[in-house]
This record gives sequence, C-alpha cells and structure tokens, in this order.
Amino acid sequence: MGIRFYADSWLTASAGVGLLRALENTGYGWEKFVKGNSLELENEIFERLGDIYSDYILKDLGHAKFREILENRKKKFNLYNAVIYEKINDFFSNSPLTNPSGTKVVGNTFNALFEKEEDTEKLFIEGRKLIAEFIKEKFMEILNYPKSEKICYFCRERNAYKKKGKVKVLDATNFTPLAASLETVENFFWEGRSNMYLCPECEIFLYFSAFGFHRTPTGTYLFVYLPDLESTKRMNDILKVETNLRSFMNRTIFEASKILEGRKADWILRNIYIVEIEKVGDAQANVYTMSITLRLANAIKGNIESYPEVFKDLFEIFLDYIYSGRSLYEFIYKILSGFFYKQRYKKLKGRDAKLISRGMKFKDSLPNSLIYFIKFQEVLNMEDREKVNKQINWAYREGLALRDTYYKQMKDNKKASRKIEGISYRLLEAVRRRDTDVFQQNLIRAYLEAEKEIPYVFVEALKNGSFNRIAYAFLIGLNGKSKEDVE
Ligand SMILES: [Zn+2]
Repeated sequence: MGIRFYADSWLTASAGVGLLRALENTGYGWEKFVKGNSLELENEIFERLGDIYSDYILKDLGHAKFREILENRKKKFNLYNAVIYEKINDFFSNSPLTNPSGTKVVGNTFNALFEKEEDTEKLFIEGRKLIAEFIKEKFMEILNYPKSEKICYFCRERNAYKKKGKVKVLDATNFTPLAASLETVENFFWEGRSNMYLCPECEIFLYFSAFGFHRTPTGTYLFVYLPDLESTKRMNDILKVETNLRSFMNRTIFEASKILEGRKADWILRNIYIVEIEKVGDAQANVYTMSITLRLANAIKGNIESYPEVFKDLFEIFLDYIYSGRSLYEFIYKILSGFFYKQRYKKLKGRDAKLISRGMKFKDSLPNSLIYFIKFQEVLNMEDREKVNKQINWAYREGLALRDTYYKQMKDNKKASRKIEGISYRLLEAVRRRDTDVFQQNLIRAYLEAEKEIPYVFVEALKNGSFNRIAYAFLIGLNGKSKEDVE
C-alpha cells in the first residue's frame, strides 16, 4: 500500500488538484492516482515529491525570465525568494518553504556563485538546482521529525509529528488564507477545531494547494470544489482560462450542466463550491465560499440545453440575471422596449443596453424563443411546470390569433401592423406598471375592435399571480410570426 491522501474539503481538494497537476507536469498519467475523493501514491513516487514539486514551480523559469530576474535584482537579492514567492507565498507565508531565515541560505549560496561565475547558462542551471535541492531538503526535514501519539486529522491514518516538543497542527504557515480569516470559514472548514493534527505526509500534500488555485489578473485566487477529485481536477483545468469570478461562475455552471448527466447529477450540483481568496494584506486574506443553489442548479440542468440559439450573444447577461436573482421578466422587458420604442433609444450604455439594442434589431416581429425566458423564470419561481407551460403556450397562441385576425380584417398590412403596435405599446406600459386593470381594459378593447370575444380564461388567469407570464407571452405572440408556434 502506498501513501494515501484525502480530498474531502475544498482545502484538501485544492491540494489534490495541485498534486495531480504537478504529477502531470512531470509526465505521469494522473488518472491512475485517483480513487473517488482520495489519492494514492506509490512509495517511490512519494519519495520523488520534492523533485515533482520543484519541477512544477520552476516550469516557467526559462532563460529569458531568469535573465530578467538577475537584471532587476535589488541590493539584498535572493534568487530563491524572487522565483518562489510569487508562486506560493500568498498561501504559505512563513512555512519551511518560504521562511526568510531559511531561504537566506540558498540565496547566499547563489550570490556567492554569481560573483565568481560569468556564464549565464551555468548560473541558470545551478540556480535551478539550488532551488530544487532546497525544496527537497525541506520536505526531508518535515518527514524526519519524531512522531507523536496523535492521529492526523486529515488522513486519520498516520501519526502527527512533534516539533520542539509540541504536536504539529494545521496553522497559518500551512495555509495562510485559512488561518488568517478564521471567522469567514469557521463553519465551513475549521469547525471550531483547534487541534487539527497534521502528519508530515499531509503537510507536504497541503503545500500543493497553491497549484490548485487559479490566480486572476486582479490577484484573487479561485478554485471550484466538486465532491469527486477527478471532476474537480477537470473542472479547474477548464476554468484556467477564465479571468474573473463572474466568468468563472458562469463557466462552472455551464460545464457542470454539461458533464453532470445521470443520477448523480443532483447530488453533485448541490455540492459544488466556488472558493475565492482575496488577499488583503501580507498575511491576511478573505476567504469566500459560494455554492450554487439547488433551485438554480435544477433550473439550469433541466433547461440550459434548450437555450435559444438566437439569443446566444445574451447568454452571459442571462446568467448574470439568474445568479444575482434579478427577474427574467426585466430581461424580457428590456428586449421588448428595444423592439417597440426603437426611436426612443439614441445613446445606449451599460449592461442592459445590450438587451435593448438586441430588441431593436428585430424588425417586424419577435421570435417565439423569447418564451424560453418566461418559462425559465417560472421554473425559478418553483411554479407547477405543466400548468405554467400550458398557460404560457395558450396566451402566446391567443396573441398570434388576434394578430392574424387584424391582418385578415384590415387587408392593408401597414394599417394592421400600426394597429398592433398601438395595442402593444399600451399593453407593455401596463405590464411595466404591473397594472392588471389597465392591461385588461386594453385587452378587452383590442378584442372588441377585432370583433372577437375575449377568451374567458384570460379574465380568470389575469386575476391571480399569473399576470407576468400571461401578459408577456401574449405580447410576444401578438408581435410574432403566425408560422411559428411553441412546443
Ligand atoms: Zn495525515
């Protein structure tokens, strides 16, 4: 049996992802190490972890970067710190890997060499070697402390070690953000425990967590945690290209809904956390964990596949609305007002401007795929799906039918379209003001003028909480194309 690690919280999962990335970087097929939410390394691979760690940390230290570091060196130059700090110091400040009193030694050794050696190539090779050796040495040191009686909190298998007579526990040196903002994560990870004993193997494991997080251009760190390590690794790899929290979240939900087919999907979605670490000082950070609500996850899982192609360019805004809890009726309203009041909008600015200008692009009619947003909102409202869909489709068809009647009766298409426009303005205004009475009066008038009887169900439906869905569906139908029909 090899050395086993568990990735059963976001902290250990980030270490798991980091370790897998490092193994991958050194040339191992990482999948074979993963078993559910644990990870197992054969002894000889575990013994190579120092090399694997430095391989990963030095992977983008090429000749150019090396020369740049040397050229920009200050008076108290330490090559090790210059290379390593930007990679891991936000995570493990004051750890054996970063503590300046320890790293001073490797810095001085390099400086002595630097004074004698003029060949940059040789310096490059020696510099890398010194850094790698220091890391290996520190890992060995951790492994060689005497064992205590206490069992490690993280693996529940191995014994914690003793340092200066004290049993080693997880602290700020092992994961700075967590310790520095205990309050933020108290209930989530720390659980008020002060004695999270730590074995040497798990400590080394935790030093890989920095490689699991994704650093955004604004200097925050992001990680998404799924309840099994393989999905967590794949998801975080996909998300490496995202640049901010918003797009990171969008992509998470989008990818999750794609990969999470089948029975486990509900359970997995319920257990996705996004962790954001925001550095606020040298050894101070805020840790935020965000979960995706079940209601939202279900709505997305069941409906995202049928997101209308016509509105592909509004997808990000759509997600923005649903995460922030803004009603999609507002979203539809913006599109409709762009469509109806094309002359009103001259200079458009901001996020909603995109919705309005999208509406302006529809010339004579609205696509029936707008109905999608009504249905989506009603899923979020936890309404009875079948009943709601029936109502929406019915209101949409009534709108279409009234439109056809006007076109047939008036013969002059221009006149008919102006007529419908007038009715639509008034109805939309009533919707905006949520005035069911005015909406109804205008509706009755519209049917009277068409010499049609107003469908009785209308009057009933407008009385209860169905106003928005009926009013919008009807308006979209009234301005639709009669060829189109809804599913
Ligand atoms: Zn352990």
